[in-house]
Amino acid sequence: MDTGLKGRRAIVCAASKGLGRACAEALAREGVDLVVTARTPGPLEETAAAIRAATGVRVTAVAGDITTEEGRVAALAACPEPDILVNNAGGPPPGDFRDWDRATWVKAIDANMLTPIFLIRAVVDGMAARRFGRIVNITSASVKSPIPNLGMSNGARAGLTGFVAGLARQVAAHNVTINNLLPGPFRTDRLLTTMRVAAEKAGRAVEEEIELRAQRSPAGRIGDPAEFGAACAFLCAASSGFIVGQNLVLDGGAFNSTMG
Ligand code: NAP
Repeated sequence: MDTGLKGRRAIVCAASKGLGRACAEALAREGVDLVVTARTPGPLEETAAAIRAATGVRVTAVAGDITTEEGRVAALAACPEPDILVNNAGGPPPGDFRDWDRATWVKAIDANMLTPIFLIRAVVDGMAARRFGRIVNITSASVKSPIPNLGMSNGARAGLTGFVAGLARQVAAHNVTINNLLPGPFRTDRLLTTMRVAAEKAGRAVEEEIELRAQRSPAGRIGDPAEFGAACAFLCAASSGFIVGQNLVLDGGAFNSTMG
């Protein structure tokens, strides 16, 4: 498939590891120049260098916390007119909602709802004026099927999803699409963290917990981040302009429904 993305520019947030990195790699393979962000400079620089070496595209690493105004300003300064924005940030911690105070909730809402909204606000009008824009938000399968101990993720991401459903329909006529990718379990550091908590609770080894999780999916396995990146590149393709406001679940079929 020719995605028609060669020479486009993308900001990929939270992309030194895991799903963000996989999206950056997939876009780079399509010839997209990148600004990648993460808080920790060392691994971010290493990722940027690896993508440059593998694909030859321009990759600018911007270290900073994307959930802060400062972090967002730095990312946008490095790429003021992106054609593609991939919104991503770390997920909120698991736990019992009885233990979460207001400050804890605000942090989760900031990271997983308001940060993508403010980045969209910063870029969407320019995309519309240039008549090309692809915005992909990495959310979670928990938006469709809540995960009991990830209440902050369930809530904050559902808020983003509601907002995006409305905005996506307002900008689609300008060839700007906004869609969400909803990961089920993918083998990343984040998965290991959540599986470790679940394993400890159940008195099992982490790998045993991961295997049990894999068996719960019709695909019988955990996802490979490269598969997630490929879906992101597909949504960003020039020919994907008619895919508007969708929530694409990548979970090996774990969400059980006839449609939707
Ligand atoms: P990961 O492997 O832990 O990678 C997270 C990446 O984001 C790292 O590059 C990290 O680098 C960066 N990051 C985290 N917080 C950041 C911040 N505030 N500002 C800038 N960069 C930040 O996580 P992942 O599995 O790819 O998960 C990505 C998102 O998908 C998360 O929101 C997660 O909850 C969600 N998700 C993942 C799964 C899964 O199975 N993997 C399933 C459902 C949902 P630094 O730490 O250096 O900043």
